[in-house]
Amino acid sequence: MEKLAIIGSGLSGLTLATLLKSKFEITVFDKARGVGGRLAARRTGPFTFDHGAQYFTARTEAFRDFIKPLIDLGVIKKWTARHVEVDGAQIVKRSYWESEEPRYVGVPNMNSIAKQMAQNINVKTNIKIDSILRKDYWQLEDEHGGIHKDFDWVISTAPAPQTLQILPKNFVHHALIKRIEMRGCYSLMLGFSEIFPLEFEAAHVLNSDVSWIAVNSHKPQRGSLHTMVIHSSAEYAEKNMDIDRNIVINHLCQETSSIIQHDATQAIRQVLHGWRYANNAKRDIYKPFIDHDLKIAACGDWCLGGRVEGAFTSAQNLAHALETG
Ligand SMILES: Cc1cc2nc3c(=O)[nH]c(=O)nc-3n(C[C@H](O)[C@H](O)[C@H](O)COP(=O)(O)OP(=O)(O)OC[C@H]3O[C@@H](n4cnc5c(N)ncnc54)[C@H](O)[C@@H]3O)c2cc1C
Repeated sequence: MEKLAIIGSGLSGLTLATLLKSKFEITVFDKARGVGGRLAARRTGPFTFDHGAQYFTARTEAFRDFIKPLIDLGVIKKWTARHVEVDGAQIVKRSYWESEEPRYVGVPNMNSIAKQMAQNINVKTNIKIDSILRKDYWQLEDEHGGIHKDFDWVISTAPAPQTLQILPKNFVHHALIKRIEMRGCYSLMLGFSEIFPLEFEAAHVLNSDVSWIAVNSHKPQRGSLHTMVIHSSAEYAEKNMDIDRNIVINHLCQETSSIIQHDATQAIRQVLHGWRYANNAKRDIYKPFIDHDLKIAACGDWCLGGRVEGAFTSAQNLAHALETG
């Protein structure tokens, strides 16, 4: 059996591993402590937050078939939130997700989906791959100089700019991938000592440095503590990615307070995470990036319009292309 190294244990990497494990001997590497990538959860004190992907839709039959067993297991559930669009502090649109296209979440956290998928896969976490080098086979070099040897194939599922840092410059798709832009985002996690009423559980915010507000604790099986997740706009994150984090926390708290008409600074836990590569700048669609001569490939949400379903579909397309040659 040929040996395949997959860089990244987000939904793309784990989908590839699941679909290809009968054809290849697979090792998945991830620089993070746990699996899931941007299907992420952060635990701090008594609070847990989804600070990456917030929810997802399932618009293709293949993705609906994929999530069905996870729904049956209780690892994915619908989130029936009251959703609003806010412009300034004004609610301009209301809907109820119960009566619309289903919005799904991982249970009890977004990364539960990845944890379930990784159960029968050889995943090595805490290993950041810096580069790959072809001897007779591929060797992956990690940030500490560790060498992981003898792979026939290497696939990177890291965000596009990180994939370019790892894969060699003679990768046939290098120039095309270089054109794919990804945007940043700040995720502010707020834990409160008491519940307070709001007119919504999910809000897309327009014309503000805040782009999204969620009552995280309203999602299924999140426990009884009141938690909120606030996302900045991409513009705000990119302009302020390297400034003092307390300035960002204060600013996003102030913006949130004026939108929800409640003092967000009263949160007893305030944690900030900066995502340099949160989402695609454009929703472009690419064919799987495969170099049959070098035996390297790349996929991820950035190949297929971004989002959770795009990550799955890009991996499925790549797996199919590898199987059929
Ligand atoms: C703040 C935020 C909000 C979002 N909201 C939504 C939403 O509401 N709905 C939705 O559908 N999508 C949302 N998304 C997008 C969604 O999270 C992604 O589309 C999806 O999770 C991407 O999966 P992936 O496997 O392609 O990439 P990732 O999940 O990013 O996986 C890539 C993995 O590669 C690893 N990696 C990177 N470099 C290296 C290296 N050198 N060595 C080893 N490992 C490496 C990373 O640690 C990561 O685990 C959001 C994303 C963010 C950040």
